[in-house]
Amino acid sequence: MILPRGVPNTRVPSTKRDFMELKKQELLKRFTDPAEKERGSMCVTCRDNNTKAFLFPTCRIVHSFACEGCIPEILKDVWSACRFPSCINDNLLREEFGKTVEQHRREWVENGGTVLVQPQAIDLLTLAIPGRWPNSVLLHSETTVTLKNIALSDLLLSKLLEKTKVVVGENVSVFGNFKGENCIRKGTDFEGLCLLRPASFSRIENNTRFMENIAEIPNNRIKLGKVNSLVLWNYAINILPKLILHEENVMGNLTLDIYEKNTFLEYYARKTTSGLGR
Ligand SMILES: [Zn+2]
Ligand SMILES: [Zn+2]
Repeated sequence: MILPRGVPNTRVPSTKRDFMELKKQELLKRFTDPAEKERGSMCVTCRDNNTKAFLFPTCRIVHSFACEGCIPEILKDVWSACRFPSCINDNLLREEFGKTVEQHRREWVENGGTVLVQPQAIDLLTLAIPGRWPNSVLLHSETTVTLKNIALSDLLLSKLLEKTKVVVGENVSVFGNFKGENCIRKGTDFEGLCLLRPASFSRIENNTRFMENIAEIPNNRIKLGKVNSLVLWNYAINILPKLILHEENVMGNLTLDIYEKNTFLEYYARKTTSGLGR
């Protein structure tokens, strides 16, 4: 047995269950009281509780648990083990249960005797703050979100603008949202952006936070790919000067629809112009 350096000479995990138990404990750290969460756990399929069977989380968020006996049956299903829409791409159970003892051991040794649960890159909007991970961080009106070298979905950008203080740095772009697809990507160039779904800003709430954010964002700051048609309703109109379109963009249809007078006044009060392409 190879013992990684720095590991106190306590019990060394040796079975698949031992390694999975360590992973489970790591995942349970996201809860204020992990022990309490574990005590209340039961298998989604047979309802066996924690004292009767070894239970493992069905996803990284730990929405539910499955017992060893039921896991193979659950994995036969083509769907992800957790039925929460946000967990559709979460393969935690399949990955961990599919590993041999050897694979588990190698991974454990490579990580210096600790267990790492890789966060899922897709869909999870958990902030990684050094020292605080894996506790999730709630975004609220006093949170400042700095965007830089990032492409994000129209829906996510709208939500951030409505609910947090947003600072828009360099190379920020926006694309159309589609359920089940990544809502955050690495900063992208216009060419990459043009391959994504065009953004729209149809549902922006009329709120002070949004207007304050808009006032702070420099004009021509947020890249939009090629859009043939852009419809901006009410308060969303204020976002227009902030957008930069691809230089080859030919806009077929630009609809500005205002049914509250103030919205319109605020837009013109800013005396802004926007490059709408050719
Ligand atoms: Zn079960
Ligand atoms: Zn889940």
